[in-house]
Amino acid sequence: MSRIPRIVILGAGYGGIVTAIGLQKELNYNEADVTLVNKHDYHYITTHLHMPAAGTDNPENARVDISKLIDEFKIDFVKSTVVQIRPHDKKIILEDSTLSYDYLVVGLGGEPETFGIPGLREYAMNIRSINSVRLIREHIEYQFAKFKREPGRTDYITFVVGGAGFTGIEFIGELADRVPELCREFDVDPALVKIYNIEASPTALPGFDPELVEYAMQVLSKKGVVFKIASAIKECTPDGVVLMDGEVIKSGTVVWTGGVRGNRMLEEAGFETMRGRIVVDQMLRTKEFDNVYVVGDCSIVLNEDGKPYPPTAQIATQQGEIVAYNLVAAIRNTPMKEFKFINRGVVASLGKNEAIGVVGDRKFKGTVAAMLKKAVDIRYLYKIGGIPLVIKKGRL
Ligand code: FAD
Repeated sequence: MSRIPRIVILGAGYGGIVTAIGLQKELNYNEADVTLVNKHDYHYITTHLHMPAAGTDNPENARVDISKLIDEFKIDFVKSTVVQIRPHDKKIILEDSTLSYDYLVVGLGGEPETFGIPGLREYAMNIRSINSVRLIREHIEYQFAKFKREPGRTDYITFVVGGAGFTGIEFIGELADRVPELCREFDVDPALVKIYNIEASPTALPGFDPELVEYAMQVLSKKGVVFKIASAIKECTPDGVVLMDGEVIKSGTVVWTGGVRGNRMLEEAGFETMRGRIVVDQMLRTKEFDNVYVVGDCSIVLNEDGKPYPPTAQIATQQGEIVAYNLVAAIRNTPMKEFKFINRGVVASLGKNEAIGVVGDRKFKGTVAAMLKKAVDIRYLYKIGGIPLVIKKGRL
């Protein structure tokens, strides 16, 4: 390859932005042409989205302009939507143009997995982006306003959250904090408001420490959340949800957080996928094309037991660092690094000043865990934007 190699990164989420930042640090000018494509001109901090979704924080706090994170002399940013990946032709079809690449990084994130449950796609909302959480926040307020006009319709102020994984639990924690404020604002009796959290697995937060799960459920139950665990949603309708046991919950708001799959474009491109996610090799490349790297929710990394690690920002960020390293190695013809996930701990927020977390073999709960969550957030902001970003978005 005598000309300058072209690297295209699809998606400026956790995996994509960290790859881009890693490349801009490592590569010399004119060593590669790097293009970052994202459908918005901002990066969003997905792990904060449960707050603006419930209305306990402003969506602005969860977004950062991409131009503030990248050096535009080293990386070309293209604001556009990817519509097709053509790995055989080494081309990316955007909504308004076409890009050619020598190396590709796919970091397009996940999509809601509805497991074929009828009506979820049509009637449930999802916490996925700044726009999706704006919609949820506005919708919740609108339900309160509608209830004031039709006080018999308690379904307007009944909220159903499908899924008690991290996203579901973090969202209900915030929603339960927001409800008293909304009740004051709209003069609604708090006793009339219902928040249901429905989970098909035998426990909330499957895979998490059982003692902490118990604590989380106690905290959230005290805030008024009604859990329906080991209880699957059979159908979502315009009027609410129907459960497997036949129970009908009438609700004007269903938020589905029950699963994530990879981006459909990967299947359409002909990659072998499991629920839209690609099992990558140790260098984070696809099996079919050694010039295509995959990071974040679009990828699957298997642990020592051959089971996939759950898709998290933590793993996406670590992958981004390794992909940047390996791309530089590929260009300079030096040895690559194998990806090894380092679990730095997991913390789930339960609303204001409440959280649970495990770091190594230590468990945390309450305010200490909430401070830990803050430290994790600040660490990420520092990593991508240094002290200025911590000051601007760190909500110190
Ligand atoms: P994303 O961060 O989702 O980014 C994908 C990017 O691709 C976006 O910028 C999107 O706009 C862009 N894009 C998508 N499609 C296109 C297209 N067609 N064209 C152009 N651009 C496109 N993980 C944790 O580790 N800890 C947590 O506490 C945690 N909390 C969470 C709370 C919530 C509410 C949610 C929803 C997730 C949480 N997660 C958490 C999971 C974590 O956010 C994801 O695993 C992580 O965002 C995945 O990163 P990614 O790089 O794969 O994709």
